[in-house]
Amino acid sequence: MSLVFANTTLSEALPVAANYRESLSLVAKAFPELPYVERYWSAWYHYMQNDVLATGLMFFCLHEFMYFFRCLPWFIIDHMPYFNKYKIQPTKIPTNKEQWECLKSVLISHFLVESVPIWTFHPTCQKLGISITVPFPSWTTSFYQICIFFVLEDIWHYWAHRLFHYGPFYKYIHKQHHRYAAPFGLTAEYAHPAETMILGFGTVGMPIIWVYFTSNLHLFTLCLWITLRLFQAVDAHSGYEFPWSLHHFLPFWAGAEHHDLHHHYFIGNYASSFRWWDFTLDTEAGPEAKAEREERMRLKAEKKAMASKKTQ
Ligand SMILES: [Zn+2]
Ligand SMILES: [Zn+2]
Repeated sequence: MSLVFANTTLSEALPVAANYRESLSLVAKAFPELPYVERYWSAWYHYMQNDVLATGLMFFCLHEFMYFFRCLPWFIIDHMPYFNKYKIQPTKIPTNKEQWECLKSVLISHFLVESVPIWTFHPTCQKLGISITVPFPSWTTSFYQICIFFVLEDIWHYWAHRLFHYGPFYKYIHKQHHRYAAPFGLTAEYAHPAETMILGFGTVGMPIIWVYFTSNLHLFTLCLWITLRLFQAVDAHSGYEFPWSLHHFLPFWAGAEHHDLHHHYFIGNYASSFRWWDFTLDTEAGPEAKAEREERMRLKAEKKAMASKKTQ
């Protein structure tokens, strides 16, 4: 029996469905007040009759679908010369061969590396008290929790990524992700398995830490968060900068321009979603940021020299 229904008496009375369609109509009859999304969600768990398998399969499919769904528009516009004017590094359009090589590597990683935590996620949810029941939490609850996850993941990503640029970590782990100096959507998850697990901790581990302290998290919120985080990662690697890109409206949002500079110059812009860490800690990438940094250092040295002259 699935634990998806808060009303266990009614759910125990629900007959097992032969297929998903039947499960959907059974749920609709038993819980007519449920909104559509919650109906589809609970019908899935009721049909599967095995919450571990239901969560694992759902997460795996969600990850595959959302990742490639978000990569597809970037792949298409890479083949449309009209969009070249929006390309950040316009002379570096990925070839079909490069895209194919990257796709193969990403798929291997999805099936062999990322699938392990995905399939074992439900027992973790149960231990930590991540809820799967309907009704869902309010939109405001999901919204504020997702905002918190974005901020926490960005902190983790900044420091772990900065560490990955240190000598041996770069040489043996992070170098793989930097194979493409001009990234494209698919390269978002093109990385060494160790990097996938360590940076992935920011995405999965932060909600786990959150629920450990608050006991307040629903799996549906987690699905939304993972989808948005995937979109953010793919978009950051898209290689395109538009006049309508989000960072023009939210100046602290990183976006593709920020991460493209990281791939181009290999140094600086270590954060994932926001610009504030690189700005505050003076690790912004690119020739402009470098020139500003050097100018600041020059002024500082001049000031110091003047001060020591005065004391003599
Ligand atoms: Zn890097
Ligand atoms: Zn990258």
